[in-house]
Amino acid sequence: MIVKENFEIKNLTTYKIGGKVTRVYFPENQSEFTELLRTIESYIVLGSCSNILFSSAGYDGNVIMTSELKQFEIRGTKVFASAGVKGPFLAQKTAEEGLSGFEFMIGFPGSIGGDICMNAGAHGQCISDNLVQVSVFNRETGEVEYKQKSELDFSYRHSCLSDGKYILLHAEFDLKRAPEEEIKSLINRNLEFRKSIQPSLATPNAGSVFKNPENDSAGRLLDKAGVKSFDLPRVQVWNNHANFIVNKGEATSEDVLTLMVMMYNAVKNQYTIELRPEIIYIGDKTKKEEELWNILYQKNQK
Ligand SMILES: Cc1cc2nc3c(=O)[nH]c(=O)nc-3n(C[C@H](O)[C@H](O)[C@H](O)COP(=O)(O)OP(=O)(O)OC[C@H]3O[C@@H](n4cnc5c(N)ncnc54)[C@H](O)[C@@H]3O)c2cc1C
Repeated sequence: MIVKENFEIKNLTTYKIGGKVTRVYFPENQSEFTELLRTIESYIVLGSCSNILFSSAGYDGNVIMTSELKQFEIRGTKVFASAGVKGPFLAQKTAEEGLSGFEFMIGFPGSIGGDICMNAGAHGQCISDNLVQVSVFNRETGEVEYKQKSELDFSYRHSCLSDGKYILLHAEFDLKRAPEEEIKSLINRNLEFRKSIQPSLATPNAGSVFKNPENDSAGRLLDKAGVKSFDLPRVQVWNNHANFIVNKGEATSEDVLTLMVMMYNAVKNQYTIELRPEIIYIGDKTKKEEELWNILYQKNQK
């Protein structure tokens, strides 16, 4: 297994932001992964780093990346995938087999572990729709457990994995049969829609910054509050979608948090609605970041 020490993590993140991490592990199979989870005392597990803002000050601790855990199998309508399998890859593989249900995953780079943790979704579909069961590592008992979908406490961009007690090892899905042409045409429509409103990964970003409040859209509120004109030296709100922050080049985590607070305040002042961040902050905060983080996250933890 590859282990990197004092590793600058920014190039592994879609924001291209993040400082040095004391130790980063890349387990290559399930037994290496579970052995690590059992033996290392404290760690953060990450997938594609596409929903995180990693501190530019780095992290004095251990990170376990699932990116090498790529095992998957399709048997009939059943799909079995390890934590690190990428959503877009699985969307394509299942489409080739005439299996429908993963078309929404084509346009964002999440791993199965991250997608299930976040209950990722788009275009009216989400990861929990076709999930049957998972195997997880229970950090409190050190045991591997099997959980049915009903036990995972799924809600909008949340599952019981978000609370950190369980680490996803493997997932089993049951998809629906559909004509391959129909599936591919839905995939293409989803891709076209994204191209028209979202930055591509060539412009570093981490997807939606804030969650939608109940019965409303964070993007709509942010747009009405005028945030599309917010433009700082190294970060800016994306022109075509007010709920995206893009890194213009050498941005730091403090730049992103600063812009997030400006966006949060704009909506709060105009609508008295306090948006909740969808992006997860990871790593060691500077004093300034602690203040910004408190405004955005403190009362929003779930
Ligand atoms: C261009 C772009 C578009 C996006 N569009 C969407 C969208 O339409 N819909 C949507 O829902 N999201 C979207 N996202 C956000 C992101 O891709 C999703 O949230 C995705 O599910 C995150 O997966 P990840 O593997 O990158 O997780 P990471 O960012 O690596 O981690 C996210 C969280 O999951 C946890 N985690 C990761 N792996 C595991 C595991 N094995 N076990 C337990 N916890 C784990 C991490 O600890 C962290 O708390 C977009 C992002 C980008 C960059």
